[in-house]
Amino acid sequence: MRTKYTANMEIKKLNRSNIYLLLLENQGLSRQEIVLKLGLSLPTVTQNIEELIAEGLVAESGFIGNTGGRRARSYSAVLNARVAIGLDVTKHHITCAAVDLSGNIIEYIRIRQKFERTDNYYKILGSLVNDIIEKIKIPPSRVLGVGIGVPGLVTADNNRIFYGEILNFDGATSAEFGRHIPYPVSLHNDANAAGFAEIWSHDFLANSFYLMLSNNIGGSVLINGQIYSGENLRSGEIGHLKIVPNGKQCYCGQKGCFDAYCAATVLSNYTEGNLDKFFEKLRAKDPQTEKLWDEYLDFLAQAVSSINTLFDSTVILGGYVGEYIEEYLDDLKSRAAKLHPFDKGSAYLQACKYKKQAIAAGAALSYIDEFIASV
Ligand SMILES: [Zn+2]
Repeated sequence: MRTKYTANMEIKKLNRSNIYLLLLENQGLSRQEIVLKLGLSLPTVTQNIEELIAEGLVAESGFIGNTGGRRARSYSAVLNARVAIGLDVTKHHITCAAVDLSGNIIEYIRIRQKFERTDNYYKILGSLVNDIIEKIKIPPSRVLGVGIGVPGLVTADNNRIFYGEILNFDGATSAEFGRHIPYPVSLHNDANAAGFAEIWSHDFLANSFYLMLSNNIGGSVLINGQIYSGENLRSGEIGHLKIVPNGKQCYCGQKGCFDAYCAATVLSNYTEGNLDKFFEKLRAKDPQTEKLWDEYLDFLAQAVSSINTLFDSTVILGGYVGEYIEEYLDDLKSRAAKLHPFDKGSAYLQACKYKKQAIAAGAALSYIDEFIASV
């Protein structure tokens, strides 16, 4: 339970906030149950519930209790009292997701669309956002904002891309991306957004390293439930960890980077860009595919073992390859264990929970998180 204990938070605000958080995480509680769980007085609980109902954030949700005694009215948080929209912009696709106050994806759209830094492209983003809001039938006044996950490094105010080699969009701003979006817009590094979504979905896992194994590799350092951005906002750029001296050329200009060995394209290039087909062939025991996968797992084991040695935290495997990793996780664990100085079980390795929607969901969650903190 995410009970808040901020020392200088006004008691009244603290009580209200804790009641709201409790109802967000436990649907259908009676006032008496809230009294017991939070150690508050009944009048305090009643007054706050009434206020939250008046604001549309909480609603009566039925009755609980046995038939013998008096049945108590139960209350729940209204999960779609606010929603946020997330977009995930990649070289060839756009994913758009609507997320409610519990972090659930209530709707999502994914289209194939080549990225271009043009007005026409930004119009497509605007119409995707409008389409999804129409689909979920939520009035625009309840939309908190639109978070856009991008394969680039973003300034601390979430307004500008300062390293955009992958899509060649250095200097692009949230105003530019949001030209046709009638809501607040912010930009988010893709791996950070996906990592944030993962810690939300793993029961608010506090510390972890999120490894994004997509067509490029990204990473996100999550400490105490927050993204650790680093001094220059480029922490966790694990794709450029050198794992082979003077090895394969990386797009960053260096040689032997992890990205050149474990990007999803290393696998999908063998099956005409289709990663699903790669894993089909692997299951069918195609020898060339097995060889590629064997090498891939060895390089991946090397990286995850180094990450865990450094952070001593959970390592979540996400991105395109993360979608398939579950059935190979035991194999990866034993390879990583052989390379780790202390840890011989590799229990720190976990498969991602979100699949293709992780980045869009995480970008939207930035607004949800901010809103919940403000209640
Ligand atoms: Zn590199």
